[in-house]
Amino acid sequence: ANNIASPIALISNNLNFLQSGAAAAERIFQLLDEEEEKEDTGTAVLAVENAQGSIAFEHVEFGYIPERTLFHDVSLKAEPGEILAVVGPSGAGKTTLVNLLMRFYEIDKGAITIEGLNISDLTRQNLRSAFGMVLQDTWLFDGTIEENIAYGKSGATREEVIQAAKKAQCDEFIRKLPAGYDTRIGGDFTTLSEGECQLLAIARTIIADPKVLILDEATSSVDTRTEILITQAMEEMMKGRTTFIIAHRLFTIKNADKIIFMQDGDIREVGSHSELMNKNGLYANLYLSASDN
Ligand code: ATP
Repeated sequence: ANNIASPIALISNNLNFLQSGAAAAERIFQLLDEEEEKEDTGTAVLAVENAQGSIAFEHVEFGYIPERTLFHDVSLKAEPGEILAVVGPSGAGKTTLVNLLMRFYEIDKGAITIEGLNISDLTRQNLRSAFGMVLQDTWLFDGTIEENIAYGKSGATREEVIQAAKKAQCDEFIRKLPAGYDTRIGGDFTTLSEGECQLLAIARTIIADPKVLILDEATSSVDTRTEILITQAMEEMMKGRTTFIIAHRLFTIKNADKIIFMQDGDIREVGSHSELMNKNGLYANLYLSASDN
């Protein structure tokens, strides 16, 4: 147990980081590994390329601080390809759920499995190579557009980059830039809009082709047209991948296969929007009070 800020929060707030794809993620994780993680005891290896993305939390108990249990008994199932929107008030444990899934912290009791394998038996590096993360702030480096997308997959070809860009709805704007895919961005070079950066980040994730996605949904204000492009790009990115979204937009929440409603470190309700509305409980309350305003 320690009380440093959660790595996810650290990454998204301090390093101004958008991360996607195994190769790229490894570099950051190495840094985390060195600085704050316990020795890795996992030895089993998940054949990531064959993974389907089924995930389960089984009676998970966890606290950041020994005498303060946060998760008392969290159970949850994600079927391959499902979209799960994690919602709940501030401090409910949404980020923690994701932190535990990626083994930034070790749980105290219960089990978390991917493809039926206990994640604590896997090496962290192997486990994390199954994940793609798109966090709130986009992270692009000084280089060409092509390099920024190709970063998600080592040895990606120009053709693969273009295919990913098309799926991420950014091929069109890229072609309008002075040097197309060879346009340099960052530093003193071409500046992209926030929305364009997000689309590039999505293209990078698509090229990395992870089985499980972790999204911390951006609440940034972009114009309506860009918003539509981002929504389309995200839908394409989520196709066939199990996705956990710490969701802020009503649209995302309503379209999720499962809404996970958390409060005080426990899952209080699970179901689709219509199921939870019929249930007329915590989620329905939140939804109705939000749409009243
Ligand atoms: P928000 O919507 O505000 O981001 P959240 O639902 O993601 O909240 P978490 O970040 O998972 O909530 O935090 C759950 C609880 O655990 C909070 O009470 C928080 O203060 C506490 N917490 C989070 N990270 C740590 C940490 N590294 N050390 C100690 N306590 C922590």
